Amino acid sequence: MTRSPSRTVDYLIHEAHEIITAAIAAENLPVDLDHECGDDCDTCDRLDWLSRAAGSLDVVLSRFDRYSDGRPISGTVEYQHGRTFAYTFPAADPVPGERELTRFALAPFDEGMPSPGQAVIYADDHAGTLRVDLLPGNVIVGRFNR
Ligand SMILES: [Zn+2]
Repeated sequence: MTRSPSRTVDYLIHEAHEIITAAIAAENLPVDLDHECGDDCDTCDRLDWLSRAAGSLDVVLSRFDRYSDGRPISGTVEYQHGRTFAYTFPAADPVPGERELTRFALAPFDEGMPSPGQAVIYADDHAGTLRVDLLPGNVIVGRFNR
């Protein structure tokens, strides 16, 4: 693994991570109900192109695991068995100290069961660490993070 050579490359790496995240989100969008897919579907062609470009970008990015200042570029934390939360740390000017990134309801153990609680995800951008708190009960009305 390699450290980024400069602050400029740090910014490029961060923005590339954002593009990959957006491409993955686009792949997971439910297909529009009006979407009538034929052999030459522009929507599907563009999504395929975006997916391939993001995949290539991911291969190039995998060469780097640290920003030029030594901090990790990204991290993951497991919040429920087999389910992880991924985060890309900011490229520059990380604020010391932990802050809440997001909170969401945990997926039920079985179909039709209530959520067993919620996950609260914290990041320390300066230290390059992630932490999860699991709280009992479904205090918030949240989406399930799958
Ligand atoms: Zn289509």
